[in-house]
Amino acid sequence: MIRKTIYFLALTLLFVANQQLSAQKPVKNVIFLIGDGMGIAQVYAAMVANGNKLALERCTYSGFSKTYSSSNFTTDSGAGGTALACGVKTKNGMIGMNPDSVAEQSILEEASKNKLATGIVVACAVTHATPASFIAHQVDRGMYDEIAADYLKTNIDVFIGGGRKYFEQRTDGRNLTDELKAKNYQIAYNIDDVKAVKEGKLAGLLYDDQNPGMPERGSMLPDATMAAIDILDNNPKGFFLMVEGSQIDWACHDNNDKQEIKEMLDFDETVGRVLDYAKKTGNTLVIITADHETGGMTILDAKFGSDEMKAVFTSKGHSGVPVPVFSYGPGAEIFSGFMENTSFKAKIEKLLKLKK
Ligand code: MG
Ligand code: ZN
Repeated sequence: MIRKTIYFLALTLLFVANQQLSAQKPVKNVIFLIGDGMGIAQVYAAMVANGNKLALERCTYSGFSKTYSSSNFTTDSGAGGTALACGVKTKNGMIGMNPDSVAEQSILEEASKNKLATGIVVACAVTHATPASFIAHQVDRGMYDEIAADYLKTNIDVFIGGGRKYFEQRTDGRNLTDELKAKNYQIAYNIDDVKAVKEGKLAGLLYDDQNPGMPERGSMLPDATMAAIDILDNNPKGFFLMVEGSQIDWACHDNNDKQEIKEMLDFDETVGRVLDYAKKTGNTLVIITADHETGGMTILDAKFGSDEMKAVFTSKGHSGVPVPVFSYGPGAEIFSGFMENTSFKAKIEKLLKLKK
């Protein structure tokens, strides 16, 4: 009898210990999704129009990020992206540099240095401010040729977006696509060629300049994101991937709530597919946030399931209010509460156990 009880107790203990072990799987992969200009109203407008539901509701933790820059109460996407990527507040317009114009290592560059696979997938030119903040170091976000050339200085495995002309029609006469090929990159000019690549390095330059908006862009963002994951997760050490829903911001600059909803739903479709992947693997941390809010948007009246709503914009520019943070997976709990936009890098660094 006693022997049986002890046996049963031991089995129970083993079971409990095992459960705790699986609940504390270490973080192997981080997928960092940025909705440019995505405030609470931008999220909620899409949720309401979509029948009171979004995929990002599956995130188990949420919080707020304070977005002010070193120079302005209201940030631009250069300083906002730099804060998220490099963990420093800088001056509006700057990319991957501190206010003294000194280059700062981004979380992507650090992950790459630690032999993780790295990637960028965006719904705009890969030279635009948000992706640039993760890979480039320039005093001005408008230096697209210089930002494109900065991609060649890194070991990034996969980058997909627009901006082909900044690689191929440059004022300095360099052809960066040829230089990428020499560095063993496979080049894709359309989404089918992106999907055909299963391993190795990939530069996806799908549009000459900026990607088209929704619905013309189709499922480029979610498809390219999953194609990137498919390649990056070949690395046994794990990966860091940044994905941007770039044009939520542009719709809000235009004070166009219907277009904002389309861009937000495209971003949320991407989030949903990423969350499916994270759930399947159990060792993937997903973080979703914004660099700033755009348009000072609010919603005064609406009907669930319809994009006809009384949306009001108070600005054609950005606003200074905090933006939401959603997270899922191992380590997700430390991205809750109020935080500075500069706090993400150190937290990811710690969870991935990266050396600086
Ligand atoms: Mg952006
Ligand atoms: Zn903007």
